[in-house]
Amino acid sequence: MELTFCGAAGTVTGSKYLVKTGGEQFLVDCGLFQGLKELQLRNWNTPPFNPRDIHAVLLTHAHIDHSGYIPLLVKNGFKGKIYCSPATADLCSILLPDSAHIQEEEALRANKYGYTKHHPALPLYTREDADAALKHFFTVPFGHDFSLTDSFSFRLQHAGHILGASMVRIFAEHTSILFSGDIGRMNDEIMKAPHPIDTIDYLVLESTYGDRLHDEKNPIDQLAQIVNRISERGGVLVIPAFAVGRAQNILYYLHQLKRMRRIADLPIYLDSPMAISATELFWKYSNEHHLSLALAKEVCDSATYINTPEESKHITEIAGPKIIISASGMITAGRVLHHIKTFANDEKNGILLTGYQAEGTRGAKLAAGEKQIKLLGETVSINAEVCELKNTSAHADYAEILTWLKKFKKAPREVFLTHGEQKAALAMQQHIEDTLGWKAKIPQYLETVSL
Ligand SMILES: [Zn+2]
Repeated sequence: MELTFCGAAGTVTGSKYLVKTGGEQFLVDCGLFQGLKELQLRNWNTPPFNPRDIHAVLLTHAHIDHSGYIPLLVKNGFKGKIYCSPATADLCSILLPDSAHIQEEEALRANKYGYTKHHPALPLYTREDADAALKHFFTVPFGHDFSLTDSFSFRLQHAGHILGASMVRIFAEHTSILFSGDIGRMNDEIMKAPHPIDTIDYLVLESTYGDRLHDEKNPIDQLAQIVNRISERGGVLVIPAFAVGRAQNILYYLHQLKRMRRIADLPIYLDSPMAISATELFWKYSNEHHLSLALAKEVCDSATYINTPEESKHITEIAGPKIIISASGMITAGRVLHHIKTFANDEKNGILLTGYQAEGTRGAKLAAGEKQIKLLGETVSINAEVCELKNTSAHADYAEILTWLKKFKKAPREVFLTHGEQKAALAMQQHIEDTLGWKAKIPQYLETVSL
């Protein structure tokens, strides 16, 4: 069996693993590279496989850095099925058309403002490509084995992280490999903990927070301070949030704070059609999280949903303090761009970053204290207070991952560390060796290993 690391090697995006076994080829995850320009350009490269030759795709979860290449795969000839959990399929039906839309908009803008070397700038894929790709999805329940050929089977297991998130365990040639996908928190208020694993031959493990521990501060306390500070000075708080997962966490925290009367009863706008749809899925998949149906509904009702672009523009005109939750979380695209452009200039206002900010993104620039960023073809001055909400990550930190690894009954034959910047992967390697005495390898982009 051969395993090729076609993405998320030395970086956190572009998850894509090629497995060759028994004369067939499979992909585990099929994500887009995001962040730095040089990474994004990889999305345009010819991949080290022919999409026509791929038998099936096994998808860990819906985040675009794991699923966003699927429309291109289908456009380029993939004929097989994409296997995933039911919630992942539902989320992909929201996220993939949106990803196409973002790329179409970006190409339009690049042409309009002339910030492209390509004439005309083209989207990586279109809305039609995304819709066509969704027809290939096939859902499977957690915890059951599925055979795809005489010699290849797989099983999904809960990973926490976001709705539908799975680890993918494959069995072929008397060998098992577990792809961790993105691993959630061990004690999350909303999502359940990742499934414990006892034995596995090979482990492909994410290392996003391999060099960091999450702040122990309670995010609810921090959020209360920030909201109170900004509302007391009459400002607007813009919260860029990932539409899936993070936006729901923030809504939950704000709901709790209002219920405890720890913040004023400010209007909260959820300005992201995707986040609205993802919030509604919380009722449908209530077995995947800790919230009761009644509480999930109350949380959903605590915000005004902004569906159309006109409504989105209108909320900037409503006077007075307010909270706007909008995507994308790293300020790479979406309606949050307009809100940052409108509100960043005024020092009364606040911008609250709420999650991992990949290198090269506007979010990372704001987090690093940059006072000017480029956005929608303009340079925008950042005078608003920029803060970061700690400890809201949907990823386990290295200590939590070690806690999960300690439950293994024996060491895997080999551990491959992926889905982390080089520094994080190196630190995770050291932690694994120091704590468990296991050797872990950090594969290079496009490296192939024989198992
Ligand atoms: Zn993820």
